[in-house]
Amino acid sequence: MRAGVGVYHAGARDAPRAGLGRDLCSEPLTMPTASTTEAFDLLVVGGGAFGLGTAAEAARRGRTVAVIERGPLPNPVAASYGPSRKIRSTYTEPHYAALAREAMTGWRQIERETGAELYLAVGNLAYTALDEQPHLDALEAVSRQIGADVELLDQAAMRARFPQFLLAKRAILERDAGFVRASACIEALRVVAERAGAVILPEREIVAIDLDGPSVVVATAGAERFRGERAVLALGGWTKRLLPELGDVLTQTQQGIMYLAEVPDALRSPGFPAWGCSDDGVYGFPAWKSDPFKIAHHTQSPAVESPDFDRMTTPAGFVDDMRAFLRDHLGIDPDAAPLRAESCMYNLSPTSDFLIDFHPRDARLLVATGGSGHGFKFGSVIGSAVMDRLEIGRARAGARSSPGTTWSRRRPLPGGCGSRSEPEARVASRPRAPIMPSLGRTKRYGDRALDPLG
Ligand SMILES: Cc1cc2nc3c(=O)[nH]c(=O)nc-3n(C[C@H](O)[C@H](O)[C@H](O)COP(=O)(O)OP(=O)(O)OC[C@H]3O[C@@H](n4cnc5c(N)ncnc54)[C@H](O)[C@@H]3O)c2cc1C
Repeated sequence: MRAGVGVYHAGARDAPRAGLGRDLCSEPLTMPTASTTEAFDLLVVGGGAFGLGTAAEAARRGRTVAVIERGPLPNPVAASYGPSRKIRSTYTEPHYAALAREAMTGWRQIERETGAELYLAVGNLAYTALDEQPHLDALEAVSRQIGADVELLDQAAMRARFPQFLLAKRAILERDAGFVRASACIEALRVVAERAGAVILPEREIVAIDLDGPSVVVATAGAERFRGERAVLALGGWTKRLLPELGDVLTQTQQGIMYLAEVPDALRSPGFPAWGCSDDGVYGFPAWKSDPFKIAHHTQSPAVESPDFDRMTTPAGFVDDMRAFLRDHLGIDPDAAPLRAESCMYNLSPTSDFLIDFHPRDARLLVATGGSGHGFKFGSVIGSAVMDRLEIGRARAGARSSPGTTWSRRRPLPGGCGSRSEPEARVASRPRAPIMPSLGRTKRYGDRALDPLG
């Protein structure tokens, strides 16, 4: 019997939880029991981009691995679901920019392996309607640094090339950026993982994790049990249900998305790129084949109580803000065509960096989450970062710039259980903050835009 072990279990839905120390130390063993327990080298809980990407990489490295997902795959309420997610390397931080370039190559490789069309390099345009926009300056500097394929467009060039953006004064066009087809990517990651030998187990919700024995044992709501030498928890916005001690670290927000069923051909791809306004965080995607034109807002919405909120509702003010933006910036009459709005969930870390780290109390558990509204594009390479962290203990020096928020030790863990394998910990210092400065003059659509933009 080791020190600092015990049982996690998901309690009453979204009730305040006591924290890791109490869960591990004092609660009785309440693991559902079953006669057989399947055993793997690695259990991955969660079948989104982070989980499937990890499973694919683990299987490629010769590990026996199972992915356990509470819903179908892809799961319509997961963050990794939908027609499109931005893929671009225009980041203000060079390590994300460089990793995004790797991710672009990674998605092309998965396309070759699966024959699926996943990555539409329609271009991504970051623009400003202001005379000065330091965010664009920063994107430009980092793009040059990493050798991204970017083109700078002044107001005259924007009028000539992209007259659809009525207010644009300056832009950066990343020519080989664009969007990835999110749900299709999840299906492709599943294919790649399964071909490499991973076992995919949908429709099973993990409700308890037993760390008492030599292996990690997880149990489903249906009382199935799976055993692994180690486990990666890639639970997205549901992470706090199994790890309530991350309550202060991860924030879930409801993010609106609006679709326009019919738009002029000028807003269709090919020809029209993915785009984002650096002044207020509004961004969008072209209509493409049968996929509608999509507009959304990378902003910090109020936190949600439950990750299972109704996806058919939208945050207060979202629809009105998007209608105004469509009219002002793109000259679209929002009353002229049918609109549909719904929501998705962000799982934000304090800095918008990913959280890829060992649980401080048991290094057999690695948490991989905190996609923070920009994680999907990395689904083709995140598995390498996670598996390097798991197998080498940290990102391989020099081999891969692996962004990651490490476990915060700002507050001591409660309980006094004693801990095994304290990982190195860095309190991420970059605050998550609005970086789209209010420079006046143009109307702003909400005032809490986030960086990085999608
Ligand atoms: C509106 C919106 C727009 C975005 N735009 C972009 C963009 O343009 N570009 C970009 O790169 N990123 C974007 N993102 C972010 C990106 O989608 C996420 O960072 C990424 O999908 C997160 O993947 P994940 O695997 O961590 O989480 P998820 O995809 O949510 O997967 C977590 C999975 O874990 C499962 N799970 C949870 N608990 C359990 C349990 N107990 N047992 C079993 N399974 C469980 C869930 O069902 C879910 O399927 C956007 C996100 C949203 C919401």
